[in-house]
Amino acid sequence: MKSFNKSHKLDNVCYDIRGPVMDEANRMIAQGEKILKLNIGNPAPFGFRAPDAIIRAMSDNLTSTEGYSDSKGLLPARQAIADYCVNVKHIAGVTPDDIYTGNGVSELITMSMQSLLDSGDEVLVPAPDYPLWTASVTLAGGKAVHYICDESADWYPDVDDIRSKITPRTKGLVIINPNNPTGALYPRELLEEIAQIARENGIIVYSDEIYDRLVMDGLEHTSISAIAPDIFSVTFNGLSKSHLIAGYRCGWMTLCGEKSHVRGYIEGLNLLSSMRLCSNAPAQSLIPTALENADTSKELLAPGGRIYEQRELIYNAINDIPGMSAVKPKAAFYIFPKMDIRKFNITDDEKFVLDFLREKKILLTHGGGFHWETPDHFRIVYLPQLDELKYAADSLRDFLADYRQN
Ligand code: PLP
Repeated sequence: MKSFNKSHKLDNVCYDIRGPVMDEANRMIAQGEKILKLNIGNPAPFGFRAPDAIIRAMSDNLTSTEGYSDSKGLLPARQAIADYCVNVKHIAGVTPDDIYTGNGVSELITMSMQSLLDSGDEVLVPAPDYPLWTASVTLAGGKAVHYICDESADWYPDVDDIRSKITPRTKGLVIINPNNPTGALYPRELLEEIAQIARENGIIVYSDEIYDRLVMDGLEHTSISAIAPDIFSVTFNGLSKSHLIAGYRCGWMTLCGEKSHVRGYIEGLNLLSSMRLCSNAPAQSLIPTALENADTSKELLAPGGRIYEQRELIYNAINDIPGMSAVKPKAAFYIFPKMDIRKFNITDDEKFVLDFLREKKILLTHGGGFHWETPDHFRIVYLPQLDELKYAADSLRDFLADYRQN
């Protein structure tokens, strides 16, 4: 019989969020064990509910969204996004024509890279990254070149490292702001430096801003597209996180700034967008309501709110464990702690996560899953309620008290 293997296109596509740790978790679950999953940013299983107005907006539109929409999306949805970009994010000149809705940001990340890259073209991607970016660059035939985000500088991108990694093949530069997995939020001056690098080298900036409405401590998110209208940039945003509807698959991508030199690229995007006909139309139909209530998660992020208090707990608890430290996240719901690998003799971060899973039945993601090379980090999703988070932190303390890798 003819046997089938995966396509060679996938040979170098690394998406470590799957792999042996997930396999083991699934095996344990199949055997009836209960696992505390701190490995994925999916709010609904932790009791977060979408606002009623959002659900109503979609259900009211179910009968009018039975057909395919325009491939870029329903006009009222794209108009609402354009208004949000111009009036709230201060990105000049955005019109509905600059917007593509997608089945989540995920689909659009892949589409943006497929249209851009030829074999061997390079894209600068942060380390640590949200791994879909690296995987999408690779799947599109490109090479992801990782630049360092510096833990000792609040996890900000190291601009000297970015500069040193630009080559004649570099086409794009990805920033994730606010950041997953570190929770960092980039200040305006840093964004200006990054924009300047893009300007000098004629490269496209891709700014993943899906957490822009999940910022704490009275800080504000600045979009790089707002401060650099003379360069071409693409922003990514959606409702999975801010409106707690990850399962509805609702995201968008906005083409910003100067476009005279990217007509061919946009032609490619239009082609790919129409090849998938359109994104989920009922989910698009709730976008105007969602963006009228863009601050819907504000209460969760203020002192006394769930996300804020959960961040305080996990941040303090981690820094209290001998041999562990973490930078305080300013946004989103992730923390990326550091382990003293000499103290614990850790040489394999994936093994650490696997050992912890087997002993404590708690699922984390190892730093390597985010293209962080040294085996000294892991990510915690701090979405669970305080008592569960405290249990997780206590378990980690207990586990590390005598954990040593051979
Ligand atoms: N970008 C970042 C930085 C993310 O963390 C995620 C999901 O966790 C996504 C994009 C994908 O989001 P979506 O649900 O819109 O596909």
